[in-house]
Amino acid sequence: MGRVAGVARSTSPRHSARWAGPESGQVYEIGLRSRFRGVTVRQGLVWQGPAGWAEWSPFLDYAPREAGTWLRAAIESAEIGWPDTVRTVVPVNCTIPAVEAEVAYAMAAKSGCTTAKIKVAERGQAFADDLARVEAVRQALGPTGRVRIDANGAWDVDTARAAIRQLARFDLEYVEQPCSAVEELAELRRRLAREGIDVLIAADESIRRSGDPYRVAQLGAADVVVLKVQPLGGVRACLQIAERIGLPVVVSSALETSVGIRAGLALAAALPELPYACGLNTVALLTDDLAESPLIASEGYLPVGDVVIDPLRLSASAAPLDVEQEWRVRLREVRHAMAEVHHG
Ligand SMILES: [Mg+2]
Repeated sequence: MGRVAGVARSTSPRHSARWAGPESGQVYEIGLRSRFRGVTVRQGLVWQGPAGWAEWSPFLDYAPREAGTWLRAAIESAEIGWPDTVRTVVPVNCTIPAVEAEVAYAMAAKSGCTTAKIKVAERGQAFADDLARVEAVRQALGPTGRVRIDANGAWDVDTARAAIRQLARFDLEYVEQPCSAVEELAELRRRLAREGIDVLIAADESIRRSGDPYRVAQLGAADVVVLKVQPLGGVRACLQIAERIGLPVVVSSALETSVGIRAGLALAAALPELPYACGLNTVALLTDDLAESPLIASEGYLPVGDVVIDPLRLSASAAPLDVEQEWRVRLREVRHAMAEVHHG
């Protein structure tokens, strides 16, 4: 205690003074408490650079070019660190996967959060499941709680309109990515407005996977935008989008460990305005973490501060050898793709 973090780091026998980059990192594998967007386990690479720890954890189906954007974000964490902050704590929502209504109620009630984001439109489930889940979470949070839903682009415009019409009675804060295409979001917004259904639309995948985050604003496709640090290439890249896009921002995670969540907190802490609770409380969805004090909210807030890695947790989370090898190959492929973009 009392030592400056940088000094402690450089004198630690565990970490030599030379910073070897992501190639020196450890591959982790940590389970998810319930299936989330088809994923049951999270894997990624963590390493320590001169500015701090970094996490690179693109989902396994992402091609090298997209995974390269995630790598740029992680390298920012390791080598540059964080911009100036305007707040020391960040309000966060609890995240409710596509679980049964009773489980959803319990998760929301014990989270301590006053905002919940509920997954809807899960493949293989019926709309009745969504209705029951949203109703249960509204009951758990009471009339003053804020309830938002996320369809991950699963609905077409007609289905979204019909679903939102019914779910609106639970007083939704917003609906995240109801349809997949930016044009569909724009059409849905116009139709909801025409019919007097007063529900805000948030864009998530349309910001981070469409190639052009600004089309959402140009087409009037959303009221709120979701920014995620790894998929968008770093905290500074997100700050630039936030400044230019002219819409309120919600910072969310990509289901990282506390190492990756720290980067999201850096963004949330640096934004001049933060009108909504952030989706950064997702360590609660993991079965383990890498930090001494995992970034799980108490009373609906996360502190903005250094994450201390727990060496025991780090070794306990080490991925099996075949997974480790796959990630080393993946890293080489992504580096190669990044170099090609650079020179080509
Ligand atoms: Mg989302």
